[in-house]
Amino acid sequence: MDENFEVIVVGGGFAGVAVARELGRKGVRVLLIDKNSYHQFQPLLYQTATVQLGVSEVARPLRDIFRGHQHVRVLVSEVTSVDTEARQITTADGRAYQARIVVIASGAEANFFGIPGAQEHGFPLYSVEDAVDLGSSLVAALERADKDDDGGELHVVVIGAGPTGVETAGAVAETIRYVLPQYFSPELAARSHVHLVDMLPDVLNAFAARSKAYARRNLERMGVKVKLGVGVSEVTPEKVVLVDGTEIPGDIVVWAGGLKAGPIIAASGLAQGRGGRVDVNPDLTAPGAEGIYVLGDAANITDTRGTLLPQLGSVALQSGKWAAKNILADLAGQPREPFKYVDKGYMAMVGRGSAVAEIGRKRILMTGPLAFLAWLAVHVVLLSGSLQKIRALVSWPSDFLTHRRSYVLLPRESRD
Ligand SMILES: Cc1cc2nc3c(=O)[nH]c(=O)nc-3n(C[C@H](O)[C@H](O)[C@H](O)COP(=O)(O)OP(=O)(O)OC[C@H]3O[C@@H](n4cnc5c(N)ncnc54)[C@H](O)[C@@H]3O)c2cc1C
Repeated sequence: MDENFEVIVVGGGFAGVAVARELGRKGVRVLLIDKNSYHQFQPLLYQTATVQLGVSEVARPLRDIFRGHQHVRVLVSEVTSVDTEARQITTADGRAYQARIVVIASGAEANFFGIPGAQEHGFPLYSVEDAVDLGSSLVAALERADKDDDGGELHVVVIGAGPTGVETAGAVAETIRYVLPQYFSPELAARSHVHLVDMLPDVLNAFAARSKAYARRNLERMGVKVKLGVGVSEVTPEKVVLVDGTEIPGDIVVWAGGLKAGPIIAASGLAQGRGGRVDVNPDLTAPGAEGIYVLGDAANITDTRGTLLPQLGSVALQSGKWAAKNILADLAGQPREPFKYVDKGYMAMVGRGSAVAEIGRKRILMTGPLAFLAWLAVHVVLLSGSLQKIRALVSWPSDFLTHRRSYVLLPRESRD
């Protein structure tokens, strides 16, 4: 590859795609590198993990996104190091690429906090591979339970009651309630259980009290056994052990307990703050490193009032668009501007027709079908024009009315 690039973008998630797209449109020569050939849509991963959506509905080829973008070159390769002084990145196959500006938008990965057995026996849910791995293992566990003439039970334990844990526990409970009777014997549903555990005293800790209470009530109504206020001390192949000595049987254990920045940040030598992320300057550049931007889940980003923003798709997307403006200013020798975040609020899907949404900076509370519609509207925007996925999203309301659930094929054997 002998082109000269003005900007290298590491990571084709919400942040990386947004910055590359905006710069490419303005004629800036961009090299976008991702270890995968696709852009994944994390908010829908739990639907794949519960065999409701196929892989092509939660991921889109990067080459398709940038088809026709003559200034953006897509490269599929794993970045292993970033030399922030030379603004040079090295990939796993030993190649090196240099540019005037490097954008690190490499996202995050599961943080197991050193809990024994959590990494070995827990299923994280942060990538398409994770979702397929979990979905295939769930199907294998269901098939095993179906064959079990002794009427043995199936237990799914979700660790972490933030939005990912709540959405996953809700979706597994719905799978048990609506999918199993359609595809397996109805009696299997009675033998299948979902547990949700967290060391914090509430589900959806960052949400308002009313949203937390609504989410918990609805999860319990769907049969989820919620255990809060006690941490996990160990995960084994058969069970989850809590700090107070409680043992919960676990055939499938989902880890939704926390995130940290991926290894690229440590390899770059940039100072790491909370969650291993880079505490970026208000203009999204990395402190003490000229020409380096860090975006999305790889960064600790604050709003104009200095409040730390959460790891959300909308923060990543907006940081990508804003960084593009500042990079254009850099290239034109103009001053950069501090990032201004447009706060759309928080939302989480609890289950069929039940969601919680806290809209905008004023946190207008919504629950139920209205919140589901708000969730839908925000996520259609995040899907950035991918027709296929918008179709997947808009088919949900009718699924909610008819109780029908699909049971998709996942192209991988289970982990065991
Ligand atoms: C299960 C789940 C559900 C979520 N639901 C919501 C939701 O409902 N609403 C919401 O707003 N947010 C949600 N989020 C959060 C949101 O998805 C993230 O905040 C957002 O994806 C972060 O975007 P990003 O571009 O920073 O990173 P990512 O989207 O993670 O993209 C990072 C990219 O970098 C690539 N990469 C990583 N390391 C390397 C390397 N070494 N070399 C090359 N490429 C590399 C990865 O392959 C990936 O494509 C959810 C997250 C999860 C995990």
